[in-house]
Parts: sequence; structure tokens; C-alpha cells
Amino acid sequence: MEKRRTAPVKLEVDSSDVALLHDTVDEFLWAANYVTRHAFEGEYVTTSKTTLHHDTYEDVREETALHSNQVQAARNKAAEACKSVVEKWKQGKKASMPHFTSPHLVYDHRTATFHDQYVSLATTDGRIEAHYVLPDKERDTPHTEYFFSDEYETTGAELHYTNGNWMLHIHCKKEMELDTSEQDATENGTVLGVDLGVNNLAVASTGTFWTGDEFDHWRREYENQRGDLQEHGTRWAHENIQAVGRKEEGRFKITLHRISNELVAEAREYGCSVIAFEDLTDIRERTGASWGHKWAFNRLYEYVEYKAAEYGIGVEQVDPENTSRRCSHCGFTHPDNREGEEFRCLKCGYENHADYNAAKNIGLRYLRRNQTGSGGGAPVGVRLNSGTVNANGEYESPGDDSARAGVHAESPRL
Ligand SMILES: [Zn+2]
Repeated sequence: MEKRRTAPVKLEVDSSDVALLHDTVDEFLWAANYVTRHAFEGEYVTTSKTTLHHDTYEDVREETALHSNQVQAARNKAAEACKSVVEKWKQGKKASMPHFTSPHLVYDHRTATFHDQYVSLATTDGRIEAHYVLPDKERDTPHTEYFFSDEYETTGAELHYTNGNWMLHIHCKKEMELDTSEQDATENGTVLGVDLGVNNLAVASTGTFWTGDEFDHWRREYENQRGDLQEHGTRWAHENIQAVGRKEEGRFKITLHRISNELVAEAREYGCSVIAFEDLTDIRERTGASWGHKWAFNRLYEYVEYKAAEYGIGVEQVDPENTSRRCSHCGFTHPDNREGEEFRCLKCGYENHADYNAAKNIGLRYLRRNQTGSGGGAPVGVRLNSGTVNANGEYESPGDDSARAGVHAESPRL
């Protein structure tokens, strides 16, 4: 897989080159606007890059002195802007023909060469060189770290002119090996705790719920069909029961694949290095789950395990004891803390959905188990939908308050 980052770097442009750079930017914007106008000329808006290329490339080459790759970049900009207008129309929203005014210019590896101290940029009249403006202390900031890291490769950049400054937004990428399991993913490693159950098939410590409705519906349907067939008692009926079984199993598996994909996506989105489940061995005894549920939990676990491995995310099982009775906020453990889907701590009063409280506990258990051991590379917290909670139960709010809709948020009591 690839990891992509953008590093904004200020450029020092020689006064003799400033006019040339402005010219290049102007021609780039002219090209993007020319292609856009063309796209809007017919009865339908043209969004195909290939069609737009055929229709406009020669004209733009003739009218401008842009490098051929800049002509293509301008056409891509135009095509994407037109596509998003058409998307908006489809959603019944208003949108008018795009017009590019903000001064910028797209570079790729053919039109820019990135050196240690400076960049060489193609213009409408040959190349210019511009030094990076980077006080030493800025070399260690998160953005520039990628740019100066040998592990990252620069793939291109976008030049912007804002408030009298030339800024180069440099795109970097790093190839990640698949078998470095925790190493890369643990940069900001956190644990995603996952609780499995009957009402909700899975609940993550980020507050995302996957209900068991679909599963229950299919299971009932399957059992009804099987019941009907069993009444016949013939060999034909027997074979049909098996066919229904295979078909239903296939449909359950599709759902479980979807849920496992979403769980792994959740872990990736939140930068989790580990997904922790409870030990599945005695889950039927603990949760009153049916054989069907146990079968589903095992499949789900398997799917998550191999899908997560592709992204270097580990999948682990922890001791399930008391994860549903323990308060994830203060640690007080009592059977009466939980009543059905409600969790209310008798000691500190923490309230939340019982499955969500359990998901947090599963994450915390993994965290505690691993903090006393190996050390380096161990995750630092359990991922909640905003922020993390560490092994001591201390809550850290996130840098940005990106609240998500449709999820169980951490209760304001924290
Ligand atoms: Zn409590």
C-alpha cells in the first residue's frame, strides 16, 4: 500500500523569475478555463478526459507555451471540476460552469525536479530554479519531515501564489511493505476495541454499530424454508435443505465480508494499529448466542484478520472476563452496572450503551496487557470516536473536533 502526504514549502523566487512564473500560472488558468468552456459547449457537459484531450489539446498547445504535461494537468483540472458540477446536478443542487481564478499551477515529475535545497520548475520560457525557504527548526515539522525523508518519494506538486508568497505543496508518497505488521501503522498507534453480540453483531470503540438485524432476518427465513422442506421428508427435500443452507451461508458471508471491510476501514481511518476482539471460545455461554451467531463471529474474526493484515494492522483476542460489567470510565465492576443495553456505573454514574462500554473495555484490556510487556511499538490508547483513552483511563481529546454523525459519541461526562 501507499502512504501519501503533502508538504507545503515556501519558495524564494528570484525577482527576475517572478513575471515568468506569473505568466505560466496565467496560461495554466487560461488552459483550464478554455477546456471548461469547451466542455460546456454541447448539449451535454463533456467530462471525459480523453474526449476533452482530443478536442482541446492542439488548440491549447498553439495558444500557450505550456509544457505538454501542464496542458494535460490543466485539462484534468477542468475535467474534474466539470464532473463535480454534473454530480451536483444529479443530486438536484445548483452549480454553474467552473471558472479558475485562484493562482496555481500543477507540476509532475516531468515538469519539476526536486533537489535538496531547491526545485527546478518548467515555465513558459524554460526552467527556473527556486530555493526552499526553511528555517532549520522547520525541518522537523510534520509536513517537511516527509519531504526530507529518504523513505518518501516526491510525486509532484502544486504551486500556489497566496498573499504575495509562492508556496509549493509537494506531494510525497511512501511504499509500505505488507509484512512490517506493526512498525508503520504504530506511528500514532491506537487500539480499536470491538464487542461482538447478538443485538449488535459488532460495536467498535469509535462508536460505530453494526446491527444484527440483517443476520437475524436471513436466519429466520432460512429456518422457515428448512422447516417447510423437512415436513416433506423426501430425499428431494433433504437435498433442498442443503441447497438452501449453502445459499443462505453464501448470503451471510457477503454481509460478514462487508462488515469486516468496514471494520478494517474504521481502523485505518482512525490510525489504529491493532483491532482487539474478545476471546471467542466461550462466547455462546457468555452472550447466549446461537450456533449461527458463533459461526458468524468466527467468520467475521477470520475475515477481519486477513484483511487487516494487508494494511499491517494486527488483530488480537483478549480475555473477555467482565468486559460487559466493568465500567470503562472508572473500572468499577459489578453485574448490576448493566441492564440489557443500558450501562450505568453504580459507582461513578458513567452511562452509555452497554455494547459500546464493552468495546472500550476490550480495547483497554489489550492496552494494559501490552503496556507491561514489549514496550516499543505498543499502542498508546484506545480509539474513541473523538480522541483516545489511555491505559490509566485518561481521556485525550483529538486535535480537530471532527464529530461524526450516526455514531455513539462518548458521553459528555468525560
Ligand atoms: Zn464507573
